[in-house]
Amino acid sequence: MGNDGGTINKVHRLRLTSEPDRSKSPAEQDLRQFQDASIWTCCRLTNKRLRLPLSSDFKGNLLNKESVLEWLLTPEREDFNEEQIKHFSHIKKLNDIVDLKGLRETSEGFQCEFSGDELGKANVKFIYLTNCGDVLPKSSLGLGTQRNRCPKCESPYTDLDVIALNPSKYELGLLQERMHKLEEMNLHHNGKMRSRKKRTRCTDQNTAKRSKKSGKT
Ligand SMILES: [Zn+2]
Repeated sequence: MGNDGGTINKVHRLRLTSEPDRSKSPAEQDLRQFQDASIWTCCRLTNKRLRLPLSSDFKGNLLNKESVLEWLLTPEREDFNEEQIKHFSHIKKLNDIVDLKGLRETSEGFQCEFSGDELGKANVKFIYLTNCGDVLPKSSLGLGTQRNRCPKCESPYTDLDVIALNPSKYELGLLQERMHKLEEMNLHHNGKMRSRKKRTRCTDQNTAKRSKKSGKT
């Protein structure tokens, strides 16, 4: 976007505190989110209309499963533009996405089977659980018969399994922190163990970053 300093766009402004962004009230942030209805009806990877089955990555993007498969099957990414390639470089295998469940397709978008709410239409925050894939209103968590069980299918989840769909900037920061935690725990976004090979590559990168002995070549 024409930055003068090439390093600026590499700075990740993660919010590490639990303080909300005071420049905008949560209500204002929510309003902005819901005004942009296309994020609830268009696949973020291909801009095509969202059709079931849907998937989502650790950033809470709504994606057509079919688009993700196309993405994974074309390693050269010839059908994707530069921005998409940069934005979705974290999707390298099926373990980097979760198939979403509990959604009904309507003429205008999607409806949550559990609550009956339309996604993006009402002032309802939606999340999905990575352990079962169910899409639910955030407010429904804890409404089940037991705490930390999915209110729809009753499967147990932890806080690390909760992903905000189309997150605010603040929520995205938290999701990025979560992903770092999972990487440290040697886990993929979907909770599966990372293979040794992958782990070694990550470690190599970290080592290379930290080690300044070798100097620049
Ligand atoms: Zn569930």
